[in-house]
Amino acid sequence: MPSDRAARRIAVVSMHTSPTASLGHNANGGLNVYVHEVATAFSDRGIATDIFTRRQSPDDPTVERLADLSRVIYLPAGRGLDKYTLFNEVPAFARRIAGFAEHEGAVYDLLFSHYWLSGEVACILRPRLAGSWAHVAHTLGLVKNRSLAQGARPEPALRIRVEGEIAQQADVLIASTEEESSDLVNQYRADPERVFVIPPGVDLSMFQPIDRAEARRKIGYGPGRLLLFVGRLERLKGVEVAIRALALLRDRNHDDVRLLVLGEDSKDGDESETDRLKAVASAAGVRDRVDFLGSVAHHELPYFYSAAEVTVMPSYSESFGLVGLEAQACARPVVGSDVTGLRSVVRDEVSGYLVPSHDPAAYAERIGRLLDDPELAQQMGRRGRLLAQRFSWTRTADRLQVLFERLAERAQLRVHATARHE
Ligand code: UDP
Repeated sequence: MPSDRAARRIAVVSMHTSPTASLGHNANGGLNVYVHEVATAFSDRGIATDIFTRRQSPDDPTVERLADLSRVIYLPAGRGLDKYTLFNEVPAFARRIAGFAEHEGAVYDLLFSHYWLSGEVACILRPRLAGSWAHVAHTLGLVKNRSLAQGARPEPALRIRVEGEIAQQADVLIASTEEESSDLVNQYRADPERVFVIPPGVDLSMFQPIDRAEARRKIGYGPGRLLLFVGRLERLKGVEVAIRALALLRDRNHDDVRLLVLGEDSKDGDESETDRLKAVASAAGVRDRVDFLGSVAHHELPYFYSAAEVTVMPSYSESFGLVGLEAQACARPVVGSDVTGLRSVVRDEVSGYLVPSHDPAAYAERIGRLLDDPELAQQMGRRGRLLAQRFSWTRTADRLQVLFERLAERAQLRVHATARHE
């Protein structure tokens, strides 16, 4: 049953992936962390959330408690479908949410949708389920298509059309960075008055620096130096660049260095990125130096970040880049691509390096500087921790709460005005 202790009730739509999913494979990454962390922080503030997601396995419960005032509700909506085919399930999924709310007598102050598929669900539900609608895109099709990795599949016109519809219709659009806000206004013609920049956060109590030797012992590695990649494996993440950079470093006397790759295939097609990357590593002569460790539980990541000399993020686009923020929170430098999302997390020459290309030699040069100068790496790590301290999920939730209160008040005024005219 819904809790009647709540000051506000929010229907969160996360059709594509669930906040309870294990991270680093399929589509499970930053979006899941965002929904999980915000719902938990809202619960602490007396704001209840019902998070609607699709049932992905017969073992999924119908309802699961995420926090005191937060529930995840698993509804059937096609299993094993890619995100484009999943679009056909949107109307049925929306009907099931409405049916659930009606059955429970649940009344929501706000619809809070994540990613374009859920945005389309919210488009359908908006008039009957809640007075207001806030949307987070997480990534935008047009932005991804602007800088595709070689061989990557462009986002189809369907997604871009739906994102345009959402940009026109949602009451507020929440962007992670100023650049995303400009893209929403300039590329999707969103009303600038309705776009708000609220960056995501990091759990600073979980992501803390750990002594390197202890962290290495914990993850089962000895004294050799480590580079780290963390994320869903898809071309967009540019792991190939990190592998090629490792091969160049090996030629330059850094032959003890290993690259740990954490994460699994982000399946949206038939190709396995893991298999492709293994072939790249073999061809570059470093297959014995790259460890594909699969996805690792979120709470174990501080050991991996702390064990590594450098976290590498050669992404072709990133709307934010939580991994960079987590590495910095563990006081370790990041070498990443100079793309919008990472620019708001990593400061070039301060907490790491932002590389303006995907040239492995440029990455090898920056990583080499840090390997050659541990003091510099340590200094950049310390500065990274300070930068990371500016972001926290508490702060993200605070800012969302203020925005949502304003929305609720506006919706209330609309109701009163309509009543007066009747
Ligand atoms: N992650 C994890 N275990 C893994 C791989 C990734 O917990 O094996 C988490 C990682 O800590 C981060 C998120 O997944 O919080 C990925 O977020 P990011 O913004 O870097 O990438 P996205 O998935 O949004 O593209």
